[in-house]
Amino acid sequence: MLFGTAGVPISSRARDTASGVARIKELGLGCMEIEFVRGVKMGESTAREVRKVAEKEKVALSVHAPYFINLNSNEKAAASAQRIKDSARIGALCGAGDIVFHAAYYQKNSKERTYQIVKKQLEEILQWLDARKIKVRLRPETTGRKMQFGTLEEIIKLSSELENVLPCVDFSHIHARTRAYNSYEEFSEILAEIEEGLGREALKNMQVHVSGIEYGHAGEKRHLNLGESDFKYRELLKAFKDFKAEGAVICESPNLEEDALLLREEYKTGGIL
Ligand SMILES: [Zn+2]
Repeated sequence: MLFGTAGVPISSRARDTASGVARIKELGLGCMEIEFVRGVKMGESTAREVRKVAEKEKVALSVHAPYFINLNSNEKAAASAQRIKDSARIGALCGAGDIVFHAAYYQKNSKERTYQIVKKQLEEILQWLDARKIKVRLRPETTGRKMQFGTLEEIIKLSSELENVLPCVDFSHIHARTRAYNSYEEFSEILAEIEEGLGREALKNMQVHVSGIEYGHAGEKRHLNLGESDFKYRELLKAFKDFKAEGAVICESPNLEEDALLLREEYKTGGIL
């Protein structure tokens, strides 16, 4: 498992992405998610620079597409799909292989209807990427709020029905949404479900989000540092080890690298539980 941050580490003096990647390496971390969450503003030449640094420092990159995405919306679907395409196009130039996004809100549609609409939209995006030979995997994320499309079941089903789609498993979101899934047994259940639905390959190729989290009846309220939250990250790391999971663990705590390093240390030392 590689550990890294959602965006440029706080301790990176320069705030640009390439400097952030270099800082990841200095910290001894292994991956970073590029945050296009407020829009894809990076140009092609910058993206190529990022790729050079990431290849030199051997830092694995992924991209988080803009928050303003709702594939289940008559008015916003086209603009939403475009944001995913732009994220993929620039992300691929950065050398990122995985494009993470929150796919949709249910709004007035049933869960089943929303699923069908999201699936159709993703099919169109996959064709667009394929026609341009943009080689990335789409990673719809398990979301934290009940009004959002993105239960674990929905994401596994999408991933099983579409090629080049795999889950981004945000364990903190699943915990916040269900107010459960916060123990070794339950984390193991999630990993077993992924293996059953998508095969061993999916566990060898994980994209994971972790942070502390505050939640209420509707689910996620905000991210917290792990030390301030009830999230049982040690048990999650133990489950990763026991399932021999591999991939990238992106820390979304407000303190970013501090918790990413904590996770990496806990994982490495094996002094878990
Ligand atoms: Zn996300």
